[in-house]
Amino acid sequence: MRVIFLGPPGSGKGTQAKRLQEAQGIPQVSTGDLLRQAVRDQTELGREAQGYMDAGKLVPDSLVIALLLERIQAGDCAGGFILDGFPRTVPQAEALDAALAEQGRPIDTVVNFVIDLGRLVERLVGRRVCPGGHGEWHVRFNPPQRDEVCDVCGAALIQREDDQEDRIRTRMEAYRADTEPLIAFYREHGVLQDIDALGELDTVTAQIEAVVTR
Ligand code: AMP
Repeated sequence: MRVIFLGPPGSGKGTQAKRLQEAQGIPQVSTGDLLRQAVRDQTELGREAQGYMDAGKLVPDSLVIALLLERIQAGDCAGGFILDGFPRTVPQAEALDAALAEQGRPIDTVVNFVIDLGRLVERLVGRRVCPGGHGEWHVRFNPPQRDEVCDVCGAALIQREDDQEDRIRTRMEAYRADTEPLIAFYREHGVLQDIDALGELDTVTAQIEAVVTR
């Protein structure tokens, strides 16, 4: 099963990708997570990407495409994968299509997270993440077991630099300008499935399960 999760920042892609990963036994591949790990490790890629990320801007296609195409060659992706946050531009989608066509393993489903953009600021400002990369929670919609503490490692949760209100606006603009055109791109390819991303976590999960296993 090869699936893309497409939707604006804060629409729940990451949380749902982790759920689908557990249900289907295929890895969630998040370019945001891969880039944040590169920043933590201070690799050359991480140092190049950090300024764009902190500002809420997209990292250049050339860096992200190479990173993603390498990641999906790993053995754990042989049986499929869930792409979360990639592609985000038409050139990224074209590069992915070309690579997968060459390997004879095209995308099966693109899940389009439909949500009113006005609700997203609330979701993003309440988001808290583990500084060690163990996951993310929400102060209201998905709180950790203990207040402001990572369920996995016990570290104090933090707010992402790019979850501050002015950066959120920049990210929404990037979504509208660069990522929204992918809805038409994948609809034309006949693989797009819309889901209502505003409901309860379990309701959204059920919709996703239904469209990816149809
Ligand atoms: P995310 O965790 O998906 O919200 O991504 C966080 C940040 O990482 C984005 O705001 C971008 O700066 C960068 N990023 C992640 N994925 C991509 C991508 N596919 N293309 C460009 N930049 C990306």
